[in-house]
Amino acid sequence: MKYHLIILLFFTMACNEGELSSDKTVKRPDYAIVIHGGAGTITREGMTPAMEAEYLAALDLALTTGEEILKEGKPAIMAVEAAIRVMEDSPLFNAGKGAVFTHEGKNELDASIMDGASGKAGAVGGLTIIKNPISAAIAVMNQSEHVMMVGKGAEDFCRVMGIELVDPTYFFTDRRWKALQQAILEDSTGVLSETDPQEKKRGTVGCVAMDKDGNIVAGTSTGGMTNKKFGRIGDSPIIGAGTYADNKSCGVSCTGHGEHFIRNTVARDVAAMMEYGGKSCQEASAYLIHQKLMEKGGEGGLIAIDKRGNVVMEFNSEGMYRGFAVPGQRMIKIYKD
Ligand code: ASP
Repeated sequence: MKYHLIILLFFTMACNEGELSSDKTVKRPDYAIVIHGGAGTITREGMTPAMEAEYLAALDLALTTGEEILKEGKPAIMAVEAAIRVMEDSPLFNAGKGAVFTHEGKNELDASIMDGASGKAGAVGGLTIIKNPISAAIAVMNQSEHVMMVGKGAEDFCRVMGIELVDPTYFFTDRRWKALQQAILEDSTGVLSETDPQEKKRGTVGCVAMDKDGNIVAGTSTGGMTNKKFGRIGDSPIIGAGTYADNKSCGVSCTGHGEHFIRNTVARDVAAMMEYGGKSCQEASAYLIHQKLMEKGGEGGLIAIDKRGNVVMEFNSEGMYRGFAVPGQRMIKIYKD
């Protein structure tokens, strides 16, 4: 009986998409990259074939852009920045161009980056005129003595650093504007609409990459949550909540209901469970996403790469835009199955 249970457990773990390329006896791959484009109410029923094709193409472009950089032997940070910039420039994702609107009808963008080799990190919050917030976060990490900058101060810093600025109208998209009107209506009437569930997904973007030297970098970029108020900032720019990286354990980028990810320090907890508790990246991620967050109703997911190059993608929502590549293996998916 016990023997059967062990076999069943082994089989279940081997079949779980959560961790890929997980054979501990195999040497670390030359590189690994994993991306997400947000987790939430993403179902086949709520998606047209044309939209699905658009999302798959955008994810493919982001993944390929990052992978090519790693194949050339360049550092993980370059791959993370490039992959995230592709998604920030796409109106499909809730980051950069496709950012959601605040209650006041503005776009306020957050991003962060962490380098697992040096332990250095950079983050920005509440940006309104920066085209690619991930590049701003990298500038904070590499060119300042600080970790986090917000609002006008952060934008002034970006100006000095020569980071690309845009007029706030650059971030306007009709789809996100309609989603805000819907959210305001729902707020005032208390009646939830049955409108396109795609609009209810959040759509933050993130990337974790490991380069040929085994250095792990994690980054996350977002417009936050539709109808956010009073300068709200979520988990995405908070090191340890939405983003974390340490070469000794793993790199993590999260997406989902930010308040829950902050309260549960999700990204750091994955690394801490590995570092102090001897758990695998897969075990730690599954615990955080399916148990700890679920107990409080926290919806979302995460992507991670551990120090051996194992890739993890876990989420407790209906779907998560996601993809990964290691030499000889590649996958892009949207739904649970
Ligand atoms: N985590 C983001 C936030 O709360 C939103 C998301 O990932 O969809 O700002």
